[in-house]
Amino acid sequence: MAHIERFAPSPTGYLHLGHAFSALTAWKQAQTTGGTFLLRIEDTDRTRVRPEYEQAIYDDLHWLGLNWPSPVLRQSDNVESYQTALNFLNHSGLTYACECTRSVIKMAQSLPTYGPDGLVYPGTCRDKKLADTKDTAIRLNMAKAIELLGGGDGVNHLSFTDISDGNCEHFLNADRLLSECGDIVLARRDTGVAYHLAVVVDDAAQNVTHVTRGQDLFEATQIHRVLQALLGLPTPIYRHHRLILDENGKRLAKRDDSRAIRKYREDGLKPQDIREMVGLGDR
Ligand code: GLU
Repeated sequence: MAHIERFAPSPTGYLHLGHAFSALTAWKQAQTTGGTFLLRIEDTDRTRVRPEYEQAIYDDLHWLGLNWPSPVLRQSDNVESYQTALNFLNHSGLTYACECTRSVIKMAQSLPTYGPDGLVYPGTCRDKKLADTKDTAIRLNMAKAIELLGGGDGVNHLSFTDISDGNCEHFLNADRLLSECGDIVLARRDTGVAYHLAVVVDDAAQNVTHVTRGQDLFEATQIHRVLQALLGLPTPIYRHHRLILDENGKRLAKRDDSRAIRKYREDGLKPQDIREMVGLGDR
């Protein structure tokens, strides 16, 4: 099977060293296997996306020496696919509409729990049978999803492979899914789609065989694995790579403009300098 990698940034800020590391790692894997490196623009968060950030993604990656086939998939052009997947989950009785705002969710718990999707939803709207309107989000009923996948026994047999730690097979755990992920959002009220669903649908549609991304998304992969099982989609091989940290040991963030690739370019650094800074200077 052809090796297909993808780099899938969101144009909500300038790419930083962590993105450079991800993109260069995926690129190298595609090069050494004679495979393909795809770029995908994950622009579903319409409140934060800006055209200049999208342009900067193309510019910065080209400057780093990367290229990719056209056309580039932009998630905002692909909402129908997400809707089809969402309809399938709706018809399987696995979803419900939710009207809770973030602050309502926070207030509903004396000790809020955080998972890979932020605050774990306490289930306030689960049995309310609210109509799906522009003011509601759509959530996955995780308990029902687990039931459909064969209960704890069935889910605990689902796994994904992470090649960053030596081809390790990671098994899901139904109890952890319920307590750490809970009823995740499949479609946001403002955009009609959310990250987890879009990424799973796109990875399958683009025949991605290898997903290279940071360790910060490791926990999210268990959600993706559940959605793949529910939607009958293949599971790529994952490489959750180390994160590039700042001098205080903190993960770089988009607002951390001082480490934006753009800024280094303006300061006169060369692509090879960036490679060296992220520990990939040997190519
Ligand atoms: N769009 C996500 C981000 O920029 C990455 C998603 C992924 O690699 O699965 O953080």
